Amino acid sequence: MTVLVKGAGVAGLATALELARRGIPVEVVERRADIGLGASHWAGGMLAPYCERETAEEIVLTSGLAAADWWDEAVPDLVQRRGTLVLANPRDLADLKRFASRTRGHRWLGEEEIGDLEPDLAGRFGTGLFFCEEAHLDPRKALRGLYDAARQLGGSFRFGEEAGDAGDYARVIDCRGPQAIGDIEGLRGVRGEMLYLETPEVGLSRPVRLLHPRHPLYIVPRGNGLFMLGATMIEAEDDGPITARSMMELLNTAYALHPAFAEARIVETGTGIRPAFADNVPRIVETVEGLAVAGMHRHGFLLAPALAREAAEKISTTHALEKRRTA
Ligand SMILES: Cc1cc2nc3c(=O)[nH]c(=O)nc-3n(C[C@H](O)[C@H](O)[C@H](O)COP(=O)(O)OP(=O)(O)OC[C@H]3O[C@@H](n4cnc5c(N)ncnc54)[C@H](O)[C@@H]3O)c2cc1C
Repeated sequence: MTVLVKGAGVAGLATALELARRGIPVEVVERRADIGLGASHWAGGMLAPYCERETAEEIVLTSGLAAADWWDEAVPDLVQRRGTLVLANPRDLADLKRFASRTRGHRWLGEEEIGDLEPDLAGRFGTGLFFCEEAHLDPRKALRGLYDAARQLGGSFRFGEEAGDAGDYARVIDCRGPQAIGDIEGLRGVRGEMLYLETPEVGLSRPVRLLHPRHPLYIVPRGNGLFMLGATMIEAEDDGPITARSMMELLNTAYALHPAFAEARIVETGTGIRPAFADNVPRIVETVEGLAVAGMHRHGFLLAPALAREAAEKISTTHALEKRRTA
């Protein structure tokens, strides 16, 4: 009765945990040597359903509202509920107004309040939006926490091999992320480039989005002077190294936020391919062998909780029916 989960990214790990929580035997097969080395490795870890609504469908907001609580329970002491600050340079004030009109769950801030929230930004921006109910986490620690939690509940893992067909498994849940492009109808890739900066000169305590007509980017503090700076959105499935143009755009954003970032060290760069459907809404898809948790796009950490629960519920219902039939 074991369920095979293909892939140990955020979708696969969250699904494995939800199956294990229901007492369903689960085995995760991951082709890489460790968990979370696919798209999930490069994520910002923002749990920002209100901000995402600017470009995403309403379902992304409603399904994402419970994400912070789910993560809190799955991996205690990781979620930081400090909200999101959205800023724009004075010449881009129209973008801030447009952002506000497309979202909810925010309040306008003046220069003084921005400085109260983030002292290092005092005097740098005259207006901003604050989404106080949003949260963020460190994605790499989050993935490790999911892995530990699933194993504690009896989930087993195999690394370094391509997951094959269903074989003796009762069901298969395909969580191969971008590797499922071509197999799942309508799935495409959206390239996202990011980098890590390190500097003791700037302190931020929450994600800050800086709006710009062409390059709206963000910075997520990881603590100890480390900042994740992301992310480009390019319609491409090439996961080659970050381009010079993207790096310049990202660094310009950091510099516009605070000039002290000019002296920061670039400690890591990376590119991830976000798997996405045409409407950019993640979903569960029926497959010949079972299900796929697919098309997580830019919402993997935000929506894996809801989709993993839904997938595990579907499998659990089928399991119960089959047990009754064989009894
Ligand atoms: C730069 C960037 C920033 C982002 N920021 C955020 C954010 O702030 N908040 C948010 O919610 N989301 C964010 N995202 C989106 C999020 O990272 C993705 O939606 C998510 O990681 C996709 O997860 P996944 O498990 O579907 O895919 P992956 O993480 O790619 O996992 C798939 C796994 O399957 C394995 N695999 C593939 N084929 C096989 C096979 N045949 N057999 C066995 N294993 C296989 C792969 O090795 C991989 O480990 C960001 C993405 C990027 C690129």
